[in-house]
Amino acid sequence: MIRTRGPVFRPGEAGYDAERDGFQQAGRHRPDLVVAAAGADDVRAAVEYAAARDLPVAVQATGHGLAVTAEGGVLVATRAMADVRVDPGARTAWVAAGARWQRVIEEAARHGLAPLSGSSPHVGAVGYTLGGGLGLLARRYGYAADHVRAFEIVTADARVRRLVPGDELFGALLGGGGNFGVVTGMEIALVPVTRLYGGGLYFPASAEAVAAWRDWTRAVPDELTSAIGLIPFPDVPAVPEPLRGRHVLHVRVAFSGDAAAGERLVAPLRAAGPLLRDTLRELPYTESASISDDPPFAHAYAGTGVLLDDLDPAAAFEAADPEAEPPCIVQVRHLGGALAAPSPTLVGHRRARYALHVVTPLDGRDPAAVRAAHRSLAGTLKGSGTFLNFQYGPATAEQVRAAYEPDVYAELARLKAVHDPGNLFRFNHNIPPAG
Ligand SMILES: Cc1cc2nc3c(=O)[nH]c(=O)nc-3n(C[C@H](O)[C@H](O)[C@H](O)COP(=O)(O)OP(=O)(O)OC[C@H]3O[C@@H](n4cnc5c(N)ncnc54)[C@H](O)[C@@H]3O)c2cc1C
Repeated sequence: MIRTRGPVFRPGEAGYDAERDGFQQAGRHRPDLVVAAAGADDVRAAVEYAAARDLPVAVQATGHGLAVTAEGGVLVATRAMADVRVDPGARTAWVAAGARWQRVIEEAARHGLAPLSGSSPHVGAVGYTLGGGLGLLARRYGYAADHVRAFEIVTADARVRRLVPGDELFGALLGGGGNFGVVTGMEIALVPVTRLYGGGLYFPASAEAVAAWRDWTRAVPDELTSAIGLIPFPDVPAVPEPLRGRHVLHVRVAFSGDAAAGERLVAPLRAAGPLLRDTLRELPYTESASISDDPPFAHAYAGTGVLLDDLDPAAAFEAADPEAEPPCIVQVRHLGGALAAPSPTLVGHRRARYALHVVTPLDGRDPAAVRAAHRSLAGTLKGSGTFLNFQYGPATAEQVRAAYEPDVYAELARLKAVHDPGNLFRFNHNIPPAG
């Protein structure tokens, strides 16, 4: 028996499939019970129910980061907990577990502020931040995780706790993801950014064009964060004419200085090759989704990635061969700047220079086969580690371990043994308890 304000669903009941549905369509967790939590008390009741029966607990907000496709356990669905409250004086926001970045961006913009959101505003703010959170302004301000002021969380003992910097579990959550409990809300610092100079430059894809971007990133200031995508655009009317049917290098730029300085900074890159399309402009932060132009619709995909100390343009271009099976969209983000600054969080590999990840829209392909091909490809790229937010599907134990330096992983496993010795929270990118 479980008492909650929000509805609960069992397999076969109306509402069960809708509540566990999400953005990622490549597989789905099939829990014994879905708790559509209406608030922290419902989350507490769900964890208590699961703990009493030794059932694993999974959490889903938007389904962008599917980590488990297993059967059984309890799924806490947080999408109804979408509250966002901005305190303009303190420049902070309280963000409930199920809120998407879109809502935070809109609320913050009313007060001349912005959160450290990423390429897609449809992603859940809490899930993104627990994985570190690599945003559009990352080189200037660091990871989203660096700007968390407090968490409200339900731990394995079914207690609602408030955690602040200095508490043992606080830093562990910021890196260790959902391994330590169900976060019911977080308080984050906002930054005084209202406008960006940003958008995309589109070149014909080539190893030389990738090299031109890499060389350019070596001299840009921390106020400029950029990324690339090597994309085989389909030959369909929905794709703008200059890109249609072509293999393209899409350079995504977000500069938080003034537009004139932004123009000067990108001038050498603009001059680097024949441009197919140029959408760089001054834009309000509320339109920041247009920079990366990620697909907003639910679909099935798989992906993985590596962190790199340097980028080999030829290897990145080869990995993006549109004729390969499976074909991969290769994306690379430029790291460094504030991302490399010391921090009390346990986000791993802060000194990496680039994050490369590959994504394949499944279009009927077998997810397991595509994931195996991605792992083999990632192995050839000689990465220094992984970044779990760019793990689009369940991760292997090695992929989870590789997200942290060995001492950081050992510390997370030690904390797990203290705070969740029965591994109740194992339906995620799991760090099993030490020993
Ligand atoms: C199109 C797209 C763009 C993206 N862009 C970026 C980007 O720019 N930068 C970046 O860093 N990442 C990015 N990501 C990755 C994204 O941040 C992760 O997939 C993240 O886990 C998504 O969180 P969610 O809540 O939206 O997804 P969900 O699938 O709902 O949750 C993913 C996982 O997060 C954990 N989790 C979620 N909520 C809670 C909670 N309340 N308590 C405890 N654990 C919880 C759970 O382990 C859960 O399995 C992107 C993903 C996609 C698909």
